[in-house]
Amino acid sequence: MNKDLIPIKEIVVKARISICESCELFRPTIRRCALPPKGCGCLIDTFGKIGKAHMLGQSCPHKKWERVTTEDLIELHNQIVNEEL
Ligand code: SF4
Repeated sequence: MNKDLIPIKEIVVKARISICESCELFRPTIRRCALPPKGCGCLIDTFGKIGKAHMLGQSCPHKKWERVTTEDLIELHNQIVNEEL
């Protein structure tokens, strides 16, 4: 990944984690989504490190957040740059 996109990816990851943390299916002690059939059972993150929230191609089973492509990151990067000009 282009190093300019790393901070943009972090914005996406933080937003996803924030959404999960406010979701009724999030299990904070184990940082996981509830088991199926209600949730996906996925590890969301291990306190800011690995997990589903960090994987751009993943999505929420209830469409609370979507998969993100490299093109999406570039678009978000350009939006932020344009706002700062
Ligand atoms: S992945 Fe979706 S359903 Fe699961 S905890 Fe996060 S927001 Fe909730």
